[in-house]
Amino acid sequence: MAEKRDYYEILGVDRNATEKEIKSAYRKLAMKYHPDRSDAPDAEERFKEISEAYAVLSDPEKRRQYDQFGHAGIGQYSQEDLFRSVDFEDLLRGFGFGTDSIFDMFFGRGRHGPVRGRDLRYDLEITLEQAASGLETTIEVPRTEVCRTCSGTGAKPGTSPVRCQSCHGTGQITRTQVTPFGQIVTSTTCSKCGGRGQVIQTPCDDCDGTGRVRRYRKINVRIPPGVDTGHHLKLRGQGEAPPFSPGAPAEPGDLYIFINIRPHPLFSRDGDNLIHEMNISMTQAALGTELDVPTLDGRARLKIPPGTQSGSLFRIKGKGMPRLHGTGTGDLLVRTNVRIPASLTPRQRQLLEELAREFGETETRRHQGKTGFFEKIVDEVKGAVR
Ligand SMILES: [Zn+2]
Ligand SMILES: [Zn+2]
Repeated sequence: MAEKRDYYEILGVDRNATEKEIKSAYRKLAMKYHPDRSDAPDAEERFKEISEAYAVLSDPEKRRQYDQFGHAGIGQYSQEDLFRSVDFEDLLRGFGFGTDSIFDMFFGRGRHGPVRGRDLRYDLEITLEQAASGLETTIEVPRTEVCRTCSGTGAKPGTSPVRCQSCHGTGQITRTQVTPFGQIVTSTTCSKCGGRGQVIQTPCDDCDGTGRVRRYRKINVRIPPGVDTGHHLKLRGQGEAPPFSPGAPAEPGDLYIFINIRPHPLFSRDGDNLIHEMNISMTQAALGTELDVPTLDGRARLKIPPGTQSGSLFRIKGKGMPRLHGTGTGDLLVRTNVRIPASLTPRQRQLLEELAREFGETETRRHQGKTGFFEKIVDEVKGAVR
């Protein structure tokens, strides 16, 4: 296991945080990592970590010991002890969670649960359009599966594994020693059969007696409309096969499909809304106009009112992303970027100068030739941009 992290760091609070601050930090993180809320692969582990940090820091005596000696200061408590000192059920109920099995979740599972295969992660890149419409696709996942030829026993069809002679099928070797202090019984895993209690005399050809094979498995996936980068789907039981464990309940791991949306040339995303940056000319900005704006499924008309500034946002309702949870669609936000012409024809220059005079700007504030200090800087900046 990795080295234990600092409890204050885990909760993201100051070393002199008040009880209230600690509780509020825990609450926030619990909202994020409670396994009822999140099915991230490490949610349970993170939730346990923050709960342990909270159990210690919310108890003045344990906190004092921790402050003074670090993790060693609370080394005398077992994890069960730590968790028992807080009424998590009451606390989490206050946060609006079900708490039926919180203690079981931390200490029950794994100890008594079935033998599980490993979870797998698959990263799937899709386009923004696919994220908007949803997608049904087939992915190919390399994974360990139960060998079909031998049904996972490892024995060649027609033969079967035989009881291990060394341990008489128990998987354990028990030795009894008589010593001056009395009889000592030691039990170790049988090395001949690796604790399985069975040995394979004629191994299956397809899996060399392991009962497991590596295979590229085609799996159909339905991506719902509205997913975003970082979202994931959990396909229960589509992970790796459990290791061979005769007699024990076993189940395969889960497959997690992580979504990654390819950057789009026209749109960026902000939750359910899409953002489109649109250049308009300074005359369009000043006089107002009506423009065609690209949308995910075509085009839309947008009215630009006179006097529009750079950075103004216009909302086109219902042209964003579909909502993943709930109904409806987000909006398309169009952000204007007013372009100032970088070069002018003599006629344009003349008109602008006339306009400047109309605005009451005096001639001397503008530079006629390329002699002015500012003009030089502008030229340098232009050069740098090119
Ligand atoms: Zn086999
Ligand atoms: Zn054995």
